[in-house]
Amino acid sequence: MSKKPIPDPIFTLTTGPVDAYPAVLRGLSRPVLYDYDPAFLAQYEAVNEKVQRAFRSSTPPVILHGEPVLALEAAAASLIAKGDVILNLVSGVYGKGFGYWAARYAKEVVELAVPYNEVLTADAVAEALRKRPDIAVVALCHHDTPSGTINPAKEIGAAVHAAGKLLIVDAVSSFGGMDVLPEPIHADIFVTGPNKCLGCPPGLSLLHVSEAAWEKMEANPDAPRASILSILDWRRAHEATQPFPFTPSVSEINALDAALDLYLCEGDEAVWQRHARTAAACRAGIKAAGLSLWAAREEIASPTCTAVRIPEGIDELALRTIIRDRYGVVVSSGRAETLGKLIRIGHMGPTARPVYSLVSVAAVAGGLQALEVKGIDVGAGVSAVMKSIDSTV
Ligand SMILES: *Cc1c(COP(=O)(O)O)cnc(C)c1O
Repeated sequence: MSKKPIPDPIFTLTTGPVDAYPAVLRGLSRPVLYDYDPAFLAQYEAVNEKVQRAFRSSTPPVILHGEPVLALEAAAASLIAKGDVILNLVSGVYGKGFGYWAARYAKEVVELAVPYNEVLTADAVAEALRKRPDIAVVALCHHDTPSGTINPAKEIGAAVHAAGKLLIVDAVSSFGGMDVLPEPIHADIFVTGPNKCLGCPPGLSLLHVSEAAWEKMEANPDAPRASILSILDWRRAHEATQPFPFTPSVSEINALDAALDLYLCEGDEAVWQRHARTAAACRAGIKAAGLSLWAAREEIASPTCTAVRIPEGIDELALRTIIRDRYGVVVSSGRAETLGKLIRIGHMGPTARPVYSLVSVAAVAGGLQALEVKGIDVGAGVSAVMKSIDSTV
């Protein structure tokens, strides 16, 4: 018995994996070179230089060959020594999740948490560090995607740095879509990936590692080596003369290469601006359509993801199903604690264009209207999106 094939969506407006740029898809179709082919060795070094330029950092990056969860777990495994006390900052599902990895490697994990529609403050972090001077490493998820909120990384980074602690930052879903760079926020291990705001498929992790973090990892007898979780193994792999610890994901490097060319050619500030404009238009439309943002305050709402509260009594799967079936639009669900409470519209990479907010707002409001939710005004939502776009051209 053959099942009817499910058609592809028309618009994938998710928070990752995201739709890829056409140039990235062309990159993926390039020949798969042997990893020790001189052309690939040179390309690998050049891609690392492009990552470093995108990071605007003073030292070479590290690329790990698995989607960013690999780098986050590798950061926990490599940086945290058995005797370490960790301060884990939690404003959502990913921040919470890092604590489970940290607990595997640390002596103790101290948690500083806020409700999942709120963000942390630098003052609270400084206070937590004063109370526990034995803390060695702090972990922060900059944009906790399942909540669509942005923590003040610069301020928190300054507080951690002033206290002389090391900082791990998950910037997977914010880097490339807003002003967040490793060195200005004092990140010792900064983790991101190409599968969110850079508009690539999932498959790689990009890291910045500070000199202090390298020193701590080198001195950590338990830091993995000859392991998929090793960061140390890859320290010099960016140099064309150095061997790879194992086979790099050649096609993913081709895709990343194309994505970095787009990003660097457009200019990072221009890219960040179109993410911000898309999110502003979307938020304006969502509110005008009669819906509420998940974020407690609009100032903390992410420029790369708009999380929308699900109206009372509405099943979020039924909503996402109707949006896909009627309009061919896919949006993201919540995760863990936020699952069922919100849906998320991604503004990442190729979909960070203001006009996409017309599609997302119309589809979400239209879906709710179809589910007979009271007080939804599709037209008002669409008008507000247009007004926001027109006010920022
Ligand atoms: C996407 C994302 C990751 C990578 O994890 P996956 O869920 O496996 O894609 C890590 N951290 C954050 C904040 C993310 O948004």
